[in-house]
Amino acid sequence: MTVLVKPKPIEGQKVRAFQMLIDGKWVDSAEGRTIERVAPGHGVVVSRYQAGTKADAEKAIAAARRAFDEGTWPRMTASQRSLVLLRAADIIAERADELAYLDAIESGKPISQAKGELGGAADIWRYAAALARDLHGESYNTLGDGTLGVVLREAIGVVSIITPWNFPFLIVSQKLPFALAAGCTTVVKPSELTSASTLLLGEILEAAGVPAGVVNIITGTGPEVGAPMTTHPDVDMVSFTGSTGVGRLTMANAAQTLKKVSLELGGKNPQIVFPDANLDEFIDAAVFGAYFNAGECCNAGSRLILHRDIADEVTRRIAELSAKVKVGDPLNPETQVGAIITPQHLEKIASYVSAASKDGAAVAHGGTALDLGMGQFMAPTILSSVRPDMAVAREEVFGPVLSVLTFETTEEAIGIANAIDYGLSAGVWSRDFDTCLTIGRRVRAGTIWMNTFMDGASELPFGGYRQSGLGRELGRHSVEDYTETKTLNMHMGPRTGWWMPR
Ligand code: NAD
Repeated sequence: MTVLVKPKPIEGQKVRAFQMLIDGKWVDSAEGRTIERVAPGHGVVVSRYQAGTKADAEKAIAAARRAFDEGTWPRMTASQRSLVLLRAADIIAERADELAYLDAIESGKPISQAKGELGGAADIWRYAAALARDLHGESYNTLGDGTLGVVLREAIGVVSIITPWNFPFLIVSQKLPFALAAGCTTVVKPSELTSASTLLLGEILEAAGVPAGVVNIITGTGPEVGAPMTTHPDVDMVSFTGSTGVGRLTMANAAQTLKKVSLELGGKNPQIVFPDANLDEFIDAAVFGAYFNAGECCNAGSRLILHRDIADEVTRRIAELSAKVKVGDPLNPETQVGAIITPQHLEKIASYVSAASKDGAAVAHGGTALDLGMGQFMAPTILSSVRPDMAVAREEVFGPVLSVLTFETTEEAIGIANAIDYGLSAGVWSRDFDTCLTIGRRVRAGTIWMNTFMDGASELPFGGYRQSGLGRELGRHSVEDYTETKTLNMHMGPRTGWWMPR
């Protein structure tokens, strides 16, 4: 059994209609078409966005280009930009409940979790504001008498920012403030499933003092408005978070004009557990790591790699705890696991579970969709007897589905952990320092958690090895990512020694 929190009809339900922000004006799409968003937890239309087109993307890119080439934003002092970012952070914090509500209702995530994400997002805007003032290059007075080498960090130019639906406000906050801190101008496209909070961010940035054309926000599908943002010659960099498949396409598109790309992609993250681990702590962390955001999380700890001696006990205890997780109404503050993003995605998750069952995996808990009277939900699911070659163990299920694999030796555990295409994050649980460090060094992933899981901070870089991405976000180098390096090589006084005859 699973604890169900039945959704209630939304109080004062109304459809919010949104326009796009291009060159400081709120406008309809060129063709006047719109997209309706059905709330995943309630099954009713809650938002209507503009269905942008290539023509809209081109207008937004032209506005960003003008703002970069002629506008004040790249030319003002870092301290002025920093003040605007700090004002934005304050308004984000003031309007956090409103933003969290939009993310919860459109993505189906629990409202309590959405509020937590907003707190994290405001902190990131403040961190970017601090980094804006610390962006600097280097100088070398060691190159010989009469010479000076100066290395500048200059804003890279116009940046296309494309984001997914699973953490709508948090992910745009991992990109936009750093691009702005560097002095870039931007075109932002949120997912067509969860655009509302990013559009509200447009209002917030206007109020904070971001000049017209510096942040343009356009809505619509990936092929219609996202693709032109990755091919247009006036775009200098693409910062993308989403699936590995679209990330690959984005890189290929950007290659036509050799744009810089930053890619944050999928994950299939292992947690390796040794018999000497604190199992009470691990079991809580395993349940949280697998079902947080209904498992629709690039960082989900969806592959447990358990030592054989503890596998049965741990699986049983996780199954027991899974039964206590509260699944249901995203707007109920008690809910821990909300709705699944679309009915099609729910079908995909269920098909992974049935394929694994046919292939010999056993369902220790869950395994089915849940009928709560409205919306779409999936039971927290744990599968045992999973083999490393099964699709459920290798591919991103992106649902609340935990696969249990087993190992005997440390080498075997490392081999299983590394034998997939992804390398976003991993966890190791042991009281032995050498064991933790060995896993920490040998598992190929961008973040390794030791006796913890999913912790993060604005100061800590985040990103993937292999097909989990390219580049890092957050951390002190995150502003530099949005810059070009320029060398000024200077000479003082008369110069002799050229080889040309006079
Ligand atoms: P997605 O790749 O389907 O879409 C992401 C964005 O790309 C959306 O805005 C979409 O409209 C746009 N897009 C789609 N086709 C496009 C095209 N041809 N050209 C340009 N843009 C296009 O991903 P999703 O389903 O929204 O999000 C889930 C995926 O995101 C998962 O794979 C997840 O792991 C990944 N993700 C990664 C991180 C990370 O930091 N590594 C964080 C969150 C999500």
